Amino acid sequence: MQTVLGFSSGAIPTILTGLMPERHGHWNLFYYDPRHAPFWWLKAFNWLPKSVLDNRYGRKIIKELGRRAFSLGPTFDCAVSPHLLPYFNFSERRDIYAPKGIGNTPSLFDELEREGRGYRVYTYHQWSDAEIMRRAGRDIVKTNATLFFLYLCEMDAFLHMHCKEPDAIGAKLNWYDEQLREVFHIARERDPEASLMVCSDHGMTPVTKHADLVGEVTKLGLRMPQDYLAVYDSTMARFWFFNETARQRVHEIMQSLDCGRVLTKAELQEFGLNFPDDRYGELIFLLNAGWMVAESDFNGRGGWSPEGMHGYHPSDSYSDAIFLSDEKPTQPMRSIADVYYSIRDAGREEKEKVAL
Ligand SMILES: [Zn+2]
Repeated sequence: MQTVLGFSSGAIPTILTGLMPERHGHWNLFYYDPRHAPFWWLKAFNWLPKSVLDNRYGRKIIKELGRRAFSLGPTFDCAVSPHLLPYFNFSERRDIYAPKGIGNTPSLFDELEREGRGYRVYTYHQWSDAEIMRRAGRDIVKTNATLFFLYLCEMDAFLHMHCKEPDAIGAKLNWYDEQLREVFHIARERDPEASLMVCSDHGMTPVTKHADLVGEVTKLGLRMPQDYLAVYDSTMARFWFFNETARQRVHEIMQSLDCGRVLTKAELQEFGLNFPDDRYGELIFLLNAGWMVAESDFNGRGGWSPEGMHGYHPSDSYSDAIFLSDEKPTQPMRSIADVYYSIRDAGREEKEKVAL
């Protein structure tokens, strides 16, 4: 299946709603929103030298504050330089795996609630993958829920670090194979017609090169936040401008680089990323598959040097997601948005059977 351009923060809401990011509202984690920025009060500390907050400890304190005091969710991380946080909001402020978890639209979980169906959700918010399998197996026996949603996130972390090691990947997949077979076996004992679907939200592309985007832009001598704002994610840079000079100069430098390209409005529209207020970026530069934004203090990723990355153009074949099932899907599975209908409808059949 084709993934959504961007990261899991945009792709998983698409799986959970069947809609593209412009419709469900979630794309990258940080978006420009100075009026509702949870860290607006950090502006009061702007008189301090940047180094006071912008270091490992400052970021850690902000991360913990974000997660605990501002309910930005367990995935909140300080990927933006702390002195720029007053300009940004964070898209996952609620648990997206719970009802009313997605900004603009009902999700699979709202639908399940509406239909009054029993279901269970297991995510990394509470448990490890091994613990999730164990709990799901136990709950299948003990409860009368009919849909069990297991979000297993450790394969992603594993592939980031080992995606060039086929033997290690094989061993890891064997572990998931055994665990999922066991859960499925338990489900089939309870209901011989139980079915299993396994899907991912993106693939993993081997990283071959690094691009110093931060360096290129810093060379221009423009000032943040007076002239522009930038957020550097692993595979893209996003910019907002406050004057024409900044807009033009950043545009020129980005257009001159051959490690990636500036996404056109037409492309953004094609990929369901047409946000009229440009909250996710007025200019979005996407690296070519295999490239990664070089580490810098600016993007707060010191020491993170993965073998694999995702977040490239959806036409990159490494980026494809998978869908596996013991039953033939009722519709063609082309995009990860189709997964939503498969999960929702599989559950409905079950309900009808029970009702008969
Ligand atoms: Zn990942």
